[in-house]
Amino acid sequence: MADTLTPADIDLSLYPEGTELDSDHRLMIGGCPVAQLADEYGTPAYLIDEGALRRTARDYIRAFTSRHPRSLVLFASKSFPSASVIGVLAQEGCGTDVASAGELGLALAGGADAGRAVFHGNAKTDEDISAAVQARVRYIVIDNLDDMERIARLAESPVPVLLRVSPSLDAKTHTAMMTGHDSSKFGIPADQVEDVIAQIRRQPMVDLRGLHAHVGSQLLDLSQFEAAVTALAEFERFGVYDFGGGLGVRYVSADEAPSVEDYAGALVAAVHRKLGTDVELLVEPGRSMVARNGITAYRVVTVKRGVRSHAAVDGGMGDNLEVSLYGQPFQPSVIDRSGPAETVDIVGRHCESGDRIAEQVQVVAPAVGDLVTVPVTGAYCYTMSNNYNTALRPPVVFCDQGSARLAVRRETFGDLLRREQLIDATVQAGG
Ligand SMILES: *Cc1c(COP(=O)(O)O)cnc(C)c1O
Repeated sequence: MADTLTPADIDLSLYPEGTELDSDHRLMIGGCPVAQLADEYGTPAYLIDEGALRRTARDYIRAFTSRHPRSLVLFASKSFPSASVIGVLAQEGCGTDVASAGELGLALAGGADAGRAVFHGNAKTDEDISAAVQARVRYIVIDNLDDMERIARLAESPVPVLLRVSPSLDAKTHTAMMTGHDSSKFGIPADQVEDVIAQIRRQPMVDLRGLHAHVGSQLLDLSQFEAAVTALAEFERFGVYDFGGGLGVRYVSADEAPSVEDYAGALVAAVHRKLGTDVELLVEPGRSMVARNGITAYRVVTVKRGVRSHAAVDGGMGDNLEVSLYGQPFQPSVIDRSGPAETVDIVGRHCESGDRIAEQVQVVAPAVGDLVTVPVTGAYCYTMSNNYNTALRPPVVFCDQGSARLAVRRETFGDLLRREQLIDATVQAGG
């Protein structure tokens, strides 16, 4: 273990591609010093390297279309449901995967094209189906027979659909991230698929074009994607196949994850082998599109030294639920200065013992006011940000080539109070 840590010890390979230190050894995101961003926008804040995000999208699209021209890469918007993020990815050529009327509305507001959007959900309401039909999304993905009945009732012309199959695979990931196993709430169990296909074909307003499978998230073993292809090849041939998202990413230095190139190579090869070379191939990456392109910046509020040392920051499970939901390890750093190394728990400010960002990590011995960055928070952190302890949800700042712009402003107390009807406020006021 190192005695002293310097800014050069920070593992920049976890940060957006191209992240550097400036001549004063300060950490920069998209060419902007984090310290400057923290002063200007406050903490906690989600910082996105816009250039790196755009490059990831272009690389993703090229990885698929170079191997299979009839590919469409759809950004799974739930992994970063901001109109600006969805819009930037749409500008680079991504379609969008949405799973509610709300996500569809956000995508359209961001400039996404409904003709390149796929509509998911395991409990779509009439409102969801109507919104999808009206917007003319590319496909609605039927998850259950009630979806089929709703489309039949609400549509006035045939609606292109895919059928989501639960391919009976136990994906190797956290159980909360498995979605394609026998007891999954998502999709039609493999043994019922043929019967459901027959029922769909009796509905003139439902135009079945293909099959969908999404087996889980944070998958690090490419053979699981090949197994999904094999599972769908068990059924009759269709013109469209959608293999969902799920590619895993590195969260800490010790992690290894397949590259997008390796993933595209393995998936396309399996599709060509089992399903043919002329199908329309869809993928729906979420985590692997955005995770590494975003970081969170915090400030240390207090440090407590004892049996264990705790550095508490000004955020926590209000802006990052990945730790308490999945036990996801993160690798925070105290940035922009050198100092003696100390092993600490970085914890949040919420009233839960489980409100931790990382346990027993080696950082520069923290002091009040220090800046702490947590890399790889670009996926699912903004998504699940919440108001526990009346926390105000953090802003999203886009950084690119040394300039920053606000994509989502910080929530205000007024935003929260606006929903309150204050029904007994008159009593308190003496009225
Ligand atoms: C969540 C989800 C995705 C994205 O998954 P990642 O693991 O973030 O890539 C794609 N498709 C569907 C249907 C999903 O539910």
